[in-house]
Amino acid sequence: MNTDQLQGGCLCGAVRFSVDEASALVSYCHCRMCRKATGGPYSVMATVPRQALTWRGEPKWRRSSPLAQRAFCPACGSPIGFEYDDSDLTSIPIGAFDSAESLIPTQHGGIESRLPWVRVDDHLPTERCDDDPDYRKLVAQTGWVPPFSQERT
Ligand SMILES: [Zn+2]
Repeated sequence: MNTDQLQGGCLCGAVRFSVDEASALVSYCHCRMCRKATGGPYSVMATVPRQALTWRGEPKWRRSSPLAQRAFCPACGSPIGFEYDDSDLTSIPIGAFDSAESLIPTQHGGIESRLPWVRVDDHLPTERCDDDPDYRKLVAQTGWVPPFSQERT
């Protein structure tokens, strides 16, 4: 095995993966959808080219917005992936890696939805979801409302 390959998997081990560490871009995401999907106050994901990722065991993919889908283990439910439809990249929650010490975040996304008690004083670059032109276009074209801070009743 290549020594630059990082290994990981879901809680129960039914889904395992390896990725090329050198290609990973690690980001915090504070958006409401990442909070819902991971159950945490924010997500931290390692984004890699899809061809750098090898799955063992099949994650189940579910559409989470008109833009993207998210993967989870069909046996234990652990969140294990995220992909934009028009991208050849896959993001993996760093908590799924067996060892994530080398996966150091370099940016914050979805900063408009950051919980107020989450301190962001690390001087990393930040961006809002609506800084992304594709995101703005989707919202304008579909009227889709992301689940930001208010629950629909
Ligand atoms: Zn599992």
